[in-house]
Amino acid sequence: MPLAAAIRTIPDYPKKGILFRDITTLLGDAKAFRKAVDELVQPWCGGKIDKVAGMEARGFILGGAVAHQLSAGFIPIRKKGKLPHRVVSIAYELEYGVDEMEMHEDAVRPGERVILVDDLIATGGTAEGAVKLLRQAGADVVAACFVIDLPDLAGVKRLQTLGVPVRTLVAFE
Ligand code: 5GP
Repeated sequence: MPLAAAIRTIPDYPKKGILFRDITTLLGDAKAFRKAVDELVQPWCGGKIDKVAGMEARGFILGGAVAHQLSAGFIPIRKKGKLPHRVVSIAYELEYGVDEMEMHEDAVRPGERVILVDDLIATGGTAEGAVKLLRQAGADVVAACFVIDLPDLAGVKRLQTLGVPVRTLVAFE
């Protein structure tokens, strides 16, 4: 079954006019979940990846599985105020306004090769914030990968402009 068929679309969520791409159906389907993780990691199998960084919250689920598959560590990138130790933080753009994301200051060592994982890229604002945060800490951001791309919102181009290669599995126009 194609991966797109395992993703459910919810109209008017979280607000009217938005088509929300719901990956809980993909996560709940053992074959689709495995296929998505296998396809996300495929270019890096056998290569050296030190850590996988995942964005709260769906990026934790996929990123954890990807890290396990690559025998890499995992870095949680969270919304402001959720991490217990000392953090580095960065402001990032939301559709309306800005927010802050944080990472533990000792989560990555300079020069470590990191892959960023999230469920979906839309405008790329969230991923751009995460890339900048990781780079501030000295990480080598080797790639960013997402199950879903919304190409109309041009987030992939935005990350490529930052010099980050991007992998996506399913596009919804
Ligand atoms: P961006 O910052 O690229 O505009 O938005 C991407 C972020 O918003 C991701 O962290 C993603 O989880 C979340 N997001 C935005 N729209 C959707 C959607 O339709 N489905 C899902 N699953 N996540 C979304």
